[in-house]
Amino acid sequence: MKKVSIIGAGIAGLSAGCYLQMNGYDTEIFELHSLPGGLCTAWKRGEYTFDGCIHWLVGSNPTDPFYSLWSELVDMTALSFVEPEEALRVESEDGRYIRVFSNIDKMEEEMLSKAPADTEIIRRFANAARKFININPPIEKAIETRSFLGKAMMLLRFLPYMKQMKYWMGMTGRDLALQCSDPLLRKTFESMFIPEMAALFLVFTQTWRHRRSAGYPIGGSLNFARKIEEAYIRLGGRINYKARVARIIVEKDAATGIQLENGEAHPSDVVVSAADGHDTIYGMLEGKYLSDEIRRYYEHAKVFPSYIQVSLGIARPLDGMPNAVIFPLETPIRTDDTHTRGQIGARIFSFDPTMAPEGKTVITVILPTNNHSYWETLRRENKEAYLAEKERIAEEVIAALDRRFGDIRRHIEEKDVSTPATVIRYTNNWKGSLEGWILTPAIGFSQMKKVLPGLQNFYMAGQWVEPGGGIPTALVSGRNVAQIICKKDGVKFSGNG
Ligand SMILES: Cc1cc2nc3c(=O)[nH]c(=O)nc-3n(C[C@H](O)[C@H](O)[C@H](O)COP(=O)(O)OP(=O)(O)OC[C@H]3O[C@@H](n4cnc5c(N)ncnc54)[C@H](O)[C@@H]3O)c2cc1C
Repeated sequence: MKKVSIIGAGIAGLSAGCYLQMNGYDTEIFELHSLPGGLCTAWKRGEYTFDGCIHWLVGSNPTDPFYSLWSELVDMTALSFVEPEEALRVESEDGRYIRVFSNIDKMEEEMLSKAPADTEIIRRFANAARKFININPPIEKAIETRSFLGKAMMLLRFLPYMKQMKYWMGMTGRDLALQCSDPLLRKTFESMFIPEMAALFLVFTQTWRHRRSAGYPIGGSLNFARKIEEAYIRLGGRINYKARVARIIVEKDAATGIQLENGEAHPSDVVVSAADGHDTIYGMLEGKYLSDEIRRYYEHAKVFPSYIQVSLGIARPLDGMPNAVIFPLETPIRTDDTHTRGQIGARIFSFDPTMAPEGKTVITVILPTNNHSYWETLRRENKEAYLAEKERIAEEVIAALDRRFGDIRRHIEEKDVSTPATVIRYTNNWKGSLEGWILTPAIGFSQMKKVLPGLQNFYMAGQWVEPGGGIPTALVSGRNVAQIICKKDGVKFSGNG
């Protein structure tokens, strides 16, 4: 039986582990944190749970191919999903707002009524989302394991949609926003996701929401990750927590195991890194296995920002409020020494009763920042100033929430601020990035390799080899790596445990 060492117990590492166990491999995961899930996480403060991840999980509908894959690992029928009618509300200074409804017709109707001057753009966007309703991504089989004919068949499946897909892949969310004359509609398109992301992603997100396949799992992100951890353990896998990998052991250009920070060496036949890409390539492998493509990514491609998350436990109900709302600030908030933000996005967790006791509510606010080093340096060199900065941001966020929702401050029972330094400490993601590479028009439909040039018995999975990132992508990435390893060893891949 071949032994595989897997670095990282995020969704990609757990997925690779589960599928390799299913196919007769003996695997062991090494994870630096004490919990599974990586970025897909949550934390408790008193009676409250502060969720740090899932807004929508693609594959929440039984008709979706992602649902079938999730079901290979998790009993999806035992989970309840919230599929909000109103996914997001974007507000402006003058009291106007646009609701982004999950249903395409309702979304279109709302946008047309609020921004009639942009009828042509709204119709174009809504029609694209309708056009893609019947597309299912080819996730069942890794492209690396498909025959020439298999690849041709896959392309054929997409041929009727190619022109539209290329069109929307060719512009960012911001480009789309800039075509709008109505400032609020512009802000809405910019706020639907990271503005540098290809607009195709916005279209697909709308399609998934319409199909009721982008729900939020009650119980939240860590609960969901724990279910995949349970599957892995049930399948015979072993996880070592608080086990940070410092080095991938290489002999004659083949990976032969990993070495932990504490010096312990663990030999194996194959190594899969589902951890941070930069640390894997430039740290654990000392930059010895590079290609021009890899250099291009790490030197030029855009990464998702890092973020500050302010989480509050509020001893009062907040029923009737939108689940997610973006609103302007009277006074911009400084998020580091070089950036400010003039608006914030709040999530009001009234939709998940497991996050707070009855009659109480969790609110979280995420403030993106591209200046991770400011927070890391501050934490390292001046802990007092770091804590004071966290306090300042919490205070400014609370003041803004008080103004927007009324009567928040005096009901606060728990308060927590995580920063890019926190993200780096607990997940080791490069620059504290929340999702790896942004899927920009420049990246387009190109795919990253899951192997490194000149290095045998080594594979990468997860958001650093899958531009656009995301939890379902991490699942597929781990599964694909297992398929690639099986194919190399002549093992017929099975997705059943
Ligand atoms: C605020 C936020 C909201 C999000 N919302 C959504 C959403 O709604 N829907 C969605 O699909 N996606 C969402 N995402 C993105 C999604 O969470 C990630 O893309 C996905 O979880 C990445 O999984 P991964 O396994 O590739 O990487 P990670 O989750 O980063 O896992 C990597 C693991 O490797 C470990 N590790 C790193 N270095 C080492 C080392 N040297 N030794 C040992 N272990 C190591 C880390 O601790 C971590 O556990 C969100 C992310 C954030 C932060």
